[in-house]
Amino acid sequence: MNRVFRIGPIRPPSEADSLLLQVTNGCTWNKCKFCQLYKHTKFKAYSADSIKADIDNMVYYADRVDIYSKGDGSWDIDGLNKELAYLPDEDERQCFYMIASWLIGGGENVFLQDGNTTALSSGRLSDVLIYLRQAFPSIKRITSYGRAENLARVTAEEFAELKEAGLDRIHSGFESGSDEVLKIINKGVTAEQEIKAGRNVKAGGIELSVYFMPGVGGRELTEKNALGTARVINEINPDFLRIRTFAAKRGTGLYEDFVDGRFTLCSDDEKVLEIRRLIEEAKGIDTMLVSDHIINLLQDVEGSLKFDKEKMFRIIDDYLSMEEGEKRLYQAARRMARLSRPEDLKCLDSTSRDKLKRLAASTPDPYKWEVKMNELISRYI
Ligand code: SF4
Repeated sequence: MNRVFRIGPIRPPSEADSLLLQVTNGCTWNKCKFCQLYKHTKFKAYSADSIKADIDNMVYYADRVDIYSKGDGSWDIDGLNKELAYLPDEDERQCFYMIASWLIGGGENVFLQDGNTTALSSGRLSDVLIYLRQAFPSIKRITSYGRAENLARVTAEEFAELKEAGLDRIHSGFESGSDEVLKIINKGVTAEQEIKAGRNVKAGGIELSVYFMPGVGGRELTEKNALGTARVINEINPDFLRIRTFAAKRGTGLYEDFVDGRFTLCSDDEKVLEIRRLIEEAKGIDTMLVSDHIINLLQDVEGSLKFDKEKMFRIIDDYLSMEEGEKRLYQAARRMARLSRPEDLKCLDSTSRDKLKRLAASTPDPYKWEVKMNELISRYI
């Protein structure tokens, strides 16, 4: 009999090295107009027994992997590779590989999948968390996604129980703190629910990581997107605010709105200005702003919203003061994963520079250029 465990498709970039434990499948809401992650997946919450069976199978693979530990922190990688190649089934190979790479990396972090784990009752989730921690005493951090609407219904006391059971951090896609924006993207959540959710999570002693989408309100609501989000963040003081630049992806409702002229894409500069405005308006909080996704134009705009504002303003203002032609070269090169920061432009060889110049010259119309950049960014989501 094959011994396998479920592995879902999605996790935050910050959980790239984490062990993935699927406790739910899909998303309870599945209606955000920018998202198609679980479009064809019906939401399912697994029973505690079913999740524990997956944990047992993880332990089974961990025991097989452990044979190749040399006991001094190093591993017999050749032996591991031979055992991996010997497994006849692709699913088993995937499970063995995940457990082996996780243990080689220290076996410390776990991410509970999928889109809304906190839809599980606190009792069931606590039961699973305790079982998981007992199975793998090396675990240092367990994190999960949670929708603000669900989180707002969990009390601070219940979050404290989940913390006690072993949940350390919740990621929540707020995307915006403006009610107008939340409505047009059909997030199914209000700014007040976000505030209540965030405060409860933090009051329960769990770290909170929320996501902000510059540009998701379109050109019409660009200022409201920044100001509304700043207001919500100021009320909560989350541990992390992660930037996820918006792109209208084909197949989503917002893409249809854009094609039909009901939604105007923000330019890259407008999205950068939203981030600048949000940083300006962040007051009395020490949240860490994080830019940990390739879709973000300026990856170095990161830091404490208490101590690093000037540094972040400098990076933004240096970009905004670039000559328009150079900006275009950088935007395209960044979206082709060729450059990480504007100053890298000087390292571009002349052939690449000429190619990018031809691309920029082929689309003189500024809005058509934004549409082209939108297509490039969309490939990453
Ligand atoms: S809540 Fe998250 S996963 Fe669910 S539809 Fe919205 S963005 Fe997608």
